[in-house]
Amino acid sequence: MSSSQGQHPLDTPITFVKRVGPRRADVFASIGIHTVRNLFHMYPRKYLDRSSIVKINDLWQYVDTGMEVTVVAVVRGKDIVRSYKKRERFILVVGDEQSFMDCIWFRRVRTMERIFRKGERLAISGQVTDFNGTLQMVHPSFDRLSPQKDDDEEYNWEEMFNTGRILPIYTETADMKEAGLEGSVLRSIVLQAFEKFGDHLEEHLPEELIHRRNLIKYPLALQTVHFPKSAEAIQRSRERLKYDELFFLQMLLGYRRRGARRVPGISFNVKSDLARTLVNRLPFSLTIAQKRVIKEIAADMESNKPMHRLLQGDVGSGKTIVSVLSMLVAVDNDYQAVFMAPTEILAVQHFTNISRLLEPIGLQPVLLIGSQKKNERKPIEESVADGSAKVIIGTHALFQESVSFNKLGFIIIDEQHRFGVMQRLRLYEKAKTPETNGRAPDLLVLTATPIPRTLSLTLYGDLDTSILDERPPGRKLVKTAVRTKNERDKVYVFARDEVKKGRQVYVVYPLIEQSEKIDLKAAKEGYEELQKGIFKDYTVALLHGKMAREENEDIMSRFRDGRIDVLVATTVIEVGVDVPNATIMIIEHAERFGLSQLHQLRGRVGRGTDQSYCILIHYLSPYNKAAAFNRGSLTDRSLQKEEEKQKGMVRLETISSTEDGFKIAEVDLKLRGPGEFFGVRQSGFPELKLASLVDDKKLLDQARTDAFAIVKSDPHLRETSHESLRHYFDHYMKPLLDLTQAG
Ligand code: ADP
Ligand code: MG
Repeated sequence: MSSSQGQHPLDTPITFVKRVGPRRADVFASIGIHTVRNLFHMYPRKYLDRSSIVKINDLWQYVDTGMEVTVVAVVRGKDIVRSYKKRERFILVVGDEQSFMDCIWFRRVRTMERIFRKGERLAISGQVTDFNGTLQMVHPSFDRLSPQKDDDEEYNWEEMFNTGRILPIYTETADMKEAGLEGSVLRSIVLQAFEKFGDHLEEHLPEELIHRRNLIKYPLALQTVHFPKSAEAIQRSRERLKYDELFFLQMLLGYRRRGARRVPGISFNVKSDLARTLVNRLPFSLTIAQKRVIKEIAADMESNKPMHRLLQGDVGSGKTIVSVLSMLVAVDNDYQAVFMAPTEILAVQHFTNISRLLEPIGLQPVLLIGSQKKNERKPIEESVADGSAKVIIGTHALFQESVSFNKLGFIIIDEQHRFGVMQRLRLYEKAKTPETNGRAPDLLVLTATPIPRTLSLTLYGDLDTSILDERPPGRKLVKTAVRTKNERDKVYVFARDEVKKGRQVYVVYPLIEQSEKIDLKAAKEGYEELQKGIFKDYTVALLHGKMAREENEDIMSRFRDGRIDVLVATTVIEVGVDVPNATIMIIEHAERFGLSQLHQLRGRVGRGTDQSYCILIHYLSPYNKAAAFNRGSLTDRSLQKEEEKQKGMVRLETISSTEDGFKIAEVDLKLRGPGEFFGVRQSGFPELKLASLVDDKKLLDQARTDAFAIVKSDPHLRETSHESLRHYFDHYMKPLLDLTQAG
């Protein structure tokens, strides 16, 4: 009994594979592997090729050449040695058939001593030196070939390997190692699974496509990545599997796009008196880019298909006024418009700004946020429900059950990648009222995170794109500098001199959920230190997310009016704050901020005509090269920390070298990966294990063309040539589609 009725054999739970009991199954489950097919999609992290392995005896010729070489050897002994200067080092003695060598670690000595066992087999890579006649590798990287725990070995991989195989190396988490899921055990589990279930693998892409794109077949590709015979075969198989990932990603986008355009939309009359009145009252004229984007939006609003548009514009490019003008079109057509912000501070800020624009032309926006009290909120909700409120600004609170709209025709979502696609859909649901008569509202998504074009095509493939690529006139570049904690005092002296000249200063502290208490304390202490110290003759205020809203608003308005000189804040001021006289942005612990956050924060200055400065103070210790070498092994938390540190350094270098939001976004994407960057997981995209949206652009384009062509020509996959594709798609991808198209 390998599977229940109607189930594909490859969907058999992993416990049906030999050597996988409930405990190991739990560990597999924790990394998303539940079924046999999941196991097949657990790809090796890298490969060891026998031809690149050197015998220890032959290492002498590599001494001091700087070349990195790999040996396969067994642990024979280990010791912690203390030299006369009291410096500890850990020595691991390893040997192959003929000889021995020493591996040395000067750092994390205790940890290293713990993680090796006598008798285990390792692949060790590094540079060789000769220390008084003994071969040595200092801080080599290593991979475990045999498991640490006793386990009946049925398949002697190492033997196969020695007869000319390429050895796959899988990622092994600490939990996996704990459960003995490592080295040869892991490899033999994959092998067992293949022997038992491999025959059930079938090609799912249409024959024509396989042929035209010259792709390896799916079953062969999977087999090859796990049991490779040549580097070239690995490469081609990985290519095929990458194509697969990208193809299905694009199919989902194709369907999403198609679905979105099938419901009837509202055909607005775009000749709006309200909008014209507002434009005439503005103290500036719109930039060419703003006018172009307004035209693009107007064309969509006029059409009877629902608008799904992404408005990209760097910080300060003037997205707000564009949004407000388009909301006014909806209002003039007797519809309601909502503007949704990601945080309360921002919602309040938008509310203040937008009210200032709209009140003079006779419109009063309403605000709906979570911190409002029930009695404060009730009349607002009523005005939303009966349609007397036309422009509604708020946060997630807008999704709450108690909120219902009268005639919602226009939705603006600011900084959407913080919201999921699901939430977007919740608003759609709320728009379904008798008044709207089944017509879907128009949607405008605002983002200040510029997205490289190919990527926005992919990730927002269901949205059309408008770009504000021109800054309002008179903006200066912000001078950006990176400083260490030792230079901190000088930074503040400089800031005080600017305050003397009448300028205002932001000081920003990091605040993340996991360490919220400590972070808040640091911000408070920083605030007190500045207030009593260098800025004692000036007004300093503290702003953070845990304060009451009235207090928050009060501080912001006093800062705006210049009554506060120095504003110490946690990241709450990240987006949207607009005070032209504030010309100094000091970021404490800059290494802890993400790239786009830093970019946003810097965008808070440089808004007036004076020269502005952004100073990043970091607390990073110097780069630890030894730990960087050991990246291959995931044994130790400190390796992760080291990687984090390096990423922090790259972020600081990037932000100080450019103000180009697109460049910054590209580096950010590389550092974080698309999942985190876009919140992809929550928005219902399939996971990309091999393919990279940054590095596989060509493949991505091909996959997009192919997938869109199929969605267009045969949306229900009814053609015989699409039969296996339909089965695969319905089974594995449809659930994702339903998730994002619910409703
Ligand atoms: P974004 O939301 O894109 O970061 P905002 O809409 O907040 O930018 O605009 C930033 C500032 O620029 C605001 O003070 C706004 O009034 C001003 N602004 C917008 N458009 C123009 C323009 N065409 N000319 C001059 N100033 C403008
Ligand atoms: Mg804005």
